[in-house]
Amino acid sequence: MTSTLQARIKGNIDTIQKDIDAMCDHSGAPRAASKLIAVSKVQPMNRVTAALDAGQRVFGENRLQEAQERWGDLKENYEGLELHLIGGLQTNKAAKAVALFDVIQTVDRIKLANTLAAEMEKQDRHLPVFLQVNTGKEPQKGGVLPEGLPDLVKATTDLKLNVVGLMCIPPADDDPALHFALLKKLAKRYGLKRLSMGMSGDFPLAAAMGATDIRVGTAIFGERDYI
Ligand SMILES: *Cc1c(COP(=O)(O)O)cnc(C)c1O
Repeated sequence: MTSTLQARIKGNIDTIQKDIDAMCDHSGAPRAASKLIAVSKVQPMNRVTAALDAGQRVFGENRLQEAQERWGDLKENYEGLELHLIGGLQTNKAAKAVALFDVIQTVDRIKLANTLAAEMEKQDRHLPVFLQVNTGKEPQKGGVLPEGLPDLVKATTDLKLNVVGLMCIPPADDDPALHFALLKKLAKRYGLKRLSMGMSGDFPLAAAMGATDIRVGTAIFGERDYI
């Protein structure tokens, strides 16, 4: 039986996917190039299960421990599940992150790149990664500053990390278009194909500007209740 919650969450996912497709059509980007990442951090389990039952398979979490608690056992039960780490990672947790996640979006310093490369080798799990860029140069935020990106790209190339794209989180009160444009320009410079950008408030814009990995939480699941 389909519950109201499940119908609501499925409806949200379908609507968002339609908006993304429409934006892709509008901008001429292939629809298949954009994927919707359901950001499940802090959301109660019944909402996450509803998304799984609706067929959603790509999820984003920002904290390792929470992700382990939520997905550690579930991962076995859902074929095709793809977990993205979208929050900052401490080097001493790299081993656990490599074991759990399928994509790491927040590589932002050479030390972390070194540790991840060693762990991936050790576990024989060669995950795709994104380099997170602090396009707004906000001191409290993760991400490499744009001027530090060349060195980080060089280091990750030398380490043979599988860097697939760039990720950014624009400052809350800036026009996100400026940040998406900068991220796109930087990705092009380094021949990187994927752009992780766009959240509940700005995903149509992100899709129109070429986002390939769109991270949406609230618009799918509803507000997060932080305790
Ligand atoms: C929480 C989070 C999101 C989702 O934000 P919403 O506004 O709920 O869509 C996207 N990206 C990152 C990095 C996040 O931490």
